[in-house]
Amino acid sequence: LMQLFRPLDMLGWVYRTIRQGLVDMADMFKLLDRAVEVEDAPGAPALVLREPTVVFDNVTFGYDKERPILKGLSFEAKAGAHIALVGPSGAGKSTVGRLLFRFYDPWEGRILIDGTDIAEVTQESLRAAIGIVPQDTVLFNDTLRYNIAYGREGASDEEIAQAARDAAIAPFIDKLALGYDTQVGERGLKLSGGEKQRVAIARTLLKGPRILLLDEATSALDSRTEQDILETLRRVSAGRTTIAIAHRLSTIADADLIHVMDDGRVVEQGDHAGLLRLGGLYAEMWNRQLSEAAELQDAAE
Ligand code: ATP
Repeated sequence: LMQLFRPLDMLGWVYRTIRQGLVDMADMFKLLDRAVEVEDAPGAPALVLREPTVVFDNVTFGYDKERPILKGLSFEAKAGAHIALVGPSGAGKSTVGRLLFRFYDPWEGRILIDGTDIAEVTQESLRAAIGIVPQDTVLFNDTLRYNIAYGREGASDEEIAQAARDAAIAPFIDKLALGYDTQVGERGLKLSGGEKQRVAIARTLLKGPRILLLDEATSALDSRTEQDILETLRRVSAGRTTIAIAHRLSTIADADLIHVMDDGRVVEQGDHAGLLRLGGLYAEMWNRQLSEAAELQDAAE
């Protein structure tokens, strides 16, 4: 009889693996809007990670030959540091994330993690080292337990509960009649944007990556929820190399180092106070966002 079940087991494994892969891709903040052509080099080794430093070294890249998007982009995220990429819409911030996951290879320049060119290691090991908290989390039509555990196959109930506590979603789950067995997604309980994001954080915590890519929380969150989520993110990103892609500046003002991108290059860098003093693009964006916030406030009153 066991002979009969073995192929079924195998099928189950294939199904889970594909499903996991699909959501990973979807989660990568819709990074994958094109066919992927990158392949592992023959006999490529796995990435060995001692110090998770991330370096973009003079990277030039575009989606179409005629139009480079990144034009000699260089920046470094030191192991354990929190850096932010900011800049006007279309500057190429999300493209940086896609290249870090090696959905595309640069035309020129290199991307190094712990001194190793990411083009020389397996994509699987590269992606295992990096966790994403995306703007829009994709939830399965399945239980909360499944949705969190999917960060790591085989996680125990206690590990799942711990991740939920660390992501500050446990109090919400504990109040539900079915707890972790509650069905979510289209046919189940609808979660708010903030709750979904906490599920994503719990998932990422279970995966335990040493490098974190944060795609800024959407404006869909009210400012109280946003502050709470930021606080949680601050806690869970401690000790991990963190790259935050930010569209609004208020969310990254406390980063160790802010890289301001414009037209595919870093044009300014520093901390928040230093960049304000510089009186350049960052200061201009900051002042504009402040006055927009004030206008919204006026309109609300
Ligand atoms: P935003 O703050 O608006 O999200 P961004 O700085 O993250 O912008 P990117 O998403 O990196 O910018 O996009 C940079 C440029 O690359 C844009 O002009 C965009 O149109 C282009 N682009 C992005 N993805 C693709 C793609 N798959 N194919 C072709 N062009 C693309």
